[in-house]
Amino acid sequence: MDGRKLSTMLAAVALALTGASTATAAPGDDTGAAPEVRFGVGTPAMLAAQDLARRTWGTDPCGGRIDIVWDVDAATINARSSWANPRSAYDAPELNVQCRIVLNRLIDYDWARFCTVLVHEYGHLAGRAHTADGPDVMSPIYRGPLPACLEVADPAAASAAPVAAPAPTASARADRPRGRRGSRARARRAPLRAAARRG
Ligand SMILES: [Zn+2]
Repeated sequence: MDGRKLSTMLAAVALALTGASTATAAPGDDTGAAPEVRFGVGTPAMLAAQDLARRTWGTDPCGGRIDIVWDVDAATINARSSWANPRSAYDAPELNVQCRIVLNRLIDYDWARFCTVLVHEYGHLAGRAHTADGPDVMSPIYRGPLPACLEVADPAAASAAPVAAPAPTASARADRPRGRRGSRARARRAPLRAAARRG
């Protein structure tokens, strides 16, 4: 953004995962369906997770206008969220626009994990920054399911998929820097930046 006078600040964050997804033969779902199918936009599972996320934060971030997509990302990333705000990344979430959540198709999601990750990303869009790494749902690294998600039976399965115990290993790395810092952030911000010019 150097020298570029954009009126909005763009923020992007990524939720890293615990354990190596490539080597972890987690049981995951036994339906054989890809996560973007089981938990696709508009499915009962997605709607249930969105509802739980709204209730968790007590708000409908971005006025409910959140672009949720499934895409391929690095194996260490559960999901990313990004948004634009005229003031700052987290201080005035009611002004958030261009809200977007990108879920990684490569992650072996089960319901509880998917639900927890969505709640986490909604948290960002609702003005929550990362907490210090720990059990909090806003931890930058996924540490296991949110209890509220475990209380909901998997809406995507007639017989709920077995929930794997969270992998205790810590190959996860810290979240990437948000906002404008870091060249690694450039690629994923590019589409956002283009969108910002439109408005
Ligand atoms: Zn995050």
